[in-house]
Amino acid sequence: MQRITVLGATGSIGASTLDVIARHPDRYRLFAATAFKQHARLREICLQFQPQFAVMVDEQAARQLRDDLQAQGCATEVLSGEQALIDIATHCDCDCVMAAIVGAAGLLPSLAAAKTGKKILLANKEALVMSGALFLDAVRDHNATLLPIDSEHNAIFQCLPEQAMRSTPPQCGVEKIVLTASGGPFLRKSLTEFALITPEQACAHPTWNMGRKISVDSATLMNKGLEVIEASLLFNAAPDQIDVVIHPQSIVHSLVRYVDGSVLAQLGNPDMRTPIAHAMAYPERISAGVAPLDLTQIAQLQFCAVDYQRFPCLQLAFDALRHGGCAPAVLNAANEVAVAAFLNTELSYPRIAEAISFTLERCAMPLVSSIEHLLTIDADARRIAQQFVAQWSAR
Ligand code: NAD
Ligand code: MG
Repeated sequence: MQRITVLGATGSIGASTLDVIARHPDRYRLFAATAFKQHARLREICLQFQPQFAVMVDEQAARQLRDDLQAQGCATEVLSGEQALIDIATHCDCDCVMAAIVGAAGLLPSLAAAKTGKKILLANKEALVMSGALFLDAVRDHNATLLPIDSEHNAIFQCLPEQAMRSTPPQCGVEKIVLTASGGPFLRKSLTEFALITPEQACAHPTWNMGRKISVDSATLMNKGLEVIEASLLFNAAPDQIDVVIHPQSIVHSLVRYVDGSVLAQLGNPDMRTPIAHAMAYPERISAGVAPLDLTQIAQLQFCAVDYQRFPCLQLAFDALRHGGCAPAVLNAANEVAVAAFLNTELSYPRIAEAISFTLERCAMPLVSSIEHLLTIDADARRIAQQFVAQWSAR
């Protein structure tokens, strides 16, 4: 029996994870579930799964949840605050941590899980992008296991030889890693209309149903940019070994091209329960509740090159990866600020990329050797991006 902590249990990945757990009560038990402040949803989760712990970051939401659960006779212990996220991710009775908090907020609990040698299922790509080698070193030094949940990285992992995580792809004959991108809702929209794009339009993804932040990232292709950096870290690939191709159907989740000309791909319906079930059961396979792929029904799979003028955020991410050091962390922080401002209608859609570029040009990027230092750079980048937002939202 594996006891799983789900960080970010009330989100989209959290829901898919709980669905897979519920399908296999003989194999998995929910040990702890966390959320920022959605107490009503976390109450439902506690009543259904009876985890040992529930964590609400927000104190008031925690009080509400505690009262509600007591009234219903549910024995789940409710904790609150950021430290509690770390406590349940590192608890000795927890075997596996699903890292599904959105953004930099997920870094410290995921890193703490790595430092206690847990099995980590990584959906929270921002945590890895910002901390890079510091995270991977913690995984290696503490004998933790890191398995990718992002559908592209999970696909690549499935197409690589066993034990290829962090080994050098050329040594296993890998020539290119090809990430597929759906292209999001604005693949064919006229560029002249970009300034009028609303948060609702940006969050209406054609093939995936996700949280709001990653939905905007998928529209700008910054999600793919973060994924390029994530792939370079997970599979130890140089920037030139990673390509992105637009594939609107989201059926081919990514590909690996080998030196002999072979190209291996992983296909499936766009449903996150597939990579989640794969990582949860790895190296075994379990059912995920996903509809079987019917290629005759899909009939056509299309691919085209990325237009970098339409998607400047992807170029910025490649540039940050090539720059190295803490540039990916600065990129990520600026993007989080810009996307939040866009969702809050303080910034127009095209200004998201401008805010990131503005921040990358101005933020100091010293060599970073500790998480504490990294967090100060993350804070600096956020302050600079916020200046850009203030400048443009005042107009
Ligand atoms: P979501 O917005 O649906 O859920 C986010 C979860 O994080 C919620 O449970 C929320 O309560 C929690 N949270 C938010 N802010 C927090 C904070 N400051 N402190 C603690 N908890 C906080 O997001 P999602 O779509 O489930 O995405 C989660 C992560 O998985 C992201 O990093 C995303 O990039 C990644 N991911 C998502 C998908 C997908 O299909 N949704 C696919 C691949 C990767
Ligand atoms: Mg992805």
